[in-house]
Amino acid sequence: MKINSEKISCKDVENFLQPYLEGNLGSGDMKLLLTHLKECSECMDELEVRFLLHEGLNSLEDGRNFNLKEELEERLYQSEQHVLMIERLKTSAVLLISALLVLGAVQLIFSVVGKI
Ligand SMILES: [Zn+2]
Repeated sequence: MKINSEKISCKDVENFLQPYLEGNLGSGDMKLLLTHLKECSECMDELEVRFLLHEGLNSLEDGRNFNLKEELEERLYQSEQHVLMIERLKTSAVLLISALLVLGAVQLIFSVVGKI
């Protein structure tokens, strides 16, 4: 059986939720968390509760109107966009480096050929 290292367990999610809510979770971990949340309603429920405690109490202090479901959906959407953007940047960087390597190799070949 193939082991998928790109997945985390419910126990791992426990460690990710607090940093996520505080905005301290890296994009790699964020991707793992989002992937898990899509497949696991238990952890999603847990996130909702944590989100309510974390954001809801802040909002009550500010006297803001608070729509938990909406704000959490917005937060998750933003996270997803963030992860996608980082992945695109990574892909572009890899493409750029590959292009530079090819260019370097071509130049090397030309310089060798030029010496003959
Ligand atoms: Zn879970």
